[in-house]
Amino acid sequence: MSIWTSLRGHAEQQEMFRRTIRRHRLSQAYLFVGPEGIGKQQFARRLAQSLLCHNPGEDPLEACGDCSGCKPFLAGAHPDFLYVGCPEGKRELPIALLVGSEERRGQEGLCHDLSLAPLPGSRKVAIVDDADTMNDASANSFLKTLEEPPDRAILFLIASNLDALLPTIRSRCQLVRFSSLETSDIEKLLLEQNLVESEADAKFASALSEGSLSTARQLLEPELRELRKLLYAQLAQPAFSGLSLSKLLLEGLAKISTETPVQRINGQWLIRFTVEFFRAALLRFNTPSNDSDQSIPEVIPFVTRVQTFPDPLGLIGQLIDRTVDASMHIDQNVPVPATLDALYDELSRLLRPSTPSR
Ligand SMILES: [Zn+2]
Repeated sequence: MSIWTSLRGHAEQQEMFRRTIRRHRLSQAYLFVGPEGIGKQQFARRLAQSLLCHNPGEDPLEACGDCSGCKPFLAGAHPDFLYVGCPEGKRELPIALLVGSEERRGQEGLCHDLSLAPLPGSRKVAIVDDADTMNDASANSFLKTLEEPPDRAILFLIASNLDALLPTIRSRCQLVRFSSLETSDIEKLLLEQNLVESEADAKFASALSEGSLSTARQLLEPELRELRKLLYAQLAQPAFSGLSLSKLLLEGLAKISTETPVQRINGQWLIRFTVEFFRAALLRFNTPSNDSDQSIPEVIPFVTRVQTFPDPLGLIGQLIDRTVDASMHIDQNVPVPATLDALYDELSRLLRPSTPSR
């Protein structure tokens, strides 16, 4: 089986490397740039394995999986494969990983290891993940290696934010751009990797993922999904109190995290969920479908209720506009509690039967 089967998308980039390797035109340093969570590192790892395989076969991007290059690579113990990345919970790629600790500067770390000769018949392949989290000191210490990479060494730098990289680093690498994945690819990945319990969950998370598997995974956090359920159940009620809904949602957010940045992200998700709900309602108006293929079942009673208003479509448009405004407020640093209080209070007022939409 191909080592590329489980990777979705990025066919163009594969083809580019296939051609380059066939022509023996590989550069010594590449910079992979593209959104978070789309498989750039997975791509680089597969490429690394094919470069370290001793029996790559007809397609130079394939690896046999069984040779003295593949076996240690797959076991995570290939002496010529090097990887560094920003450790979990850290904001910067530690300089020690690149050039060694202060006491042993230049005697350990990626740059040192890369300078050692590879095994006979092999080459050194290094991945520098989260390259955009290098601070200036790290970037400068890494620059020497990048300017004059050791013979038979190839480097893959990975970044999601091109602007965060020093121009001197950028200019020494060949840039390879990666795009977001298709929604259908995300859906398949979620199912293949058993990250969801049902196809409906895979559909829901992929539709909102913006082409990023890591975003889809965030959306599948059980706490966030609970809040989404609660939100939809309330929106489907004939009359709901906006302030009590907001209170319940804020309590839920506080359980997930009390850190402001995380709350803002999750607050934005609640707003996205609300927009999705109203969009689904709009869709149901335009293309009345079977109840069974409604991905948000709570939309059905909601639409029935909204139909009793004088201008149902205008009302839904108004609800969407108001909800999108709330998202902007969070972007403009309005605190999440104030934003959600105001939003759901206003939505509940707009939906109160005695005050038809204007
Ligand atoms: Zn092999």
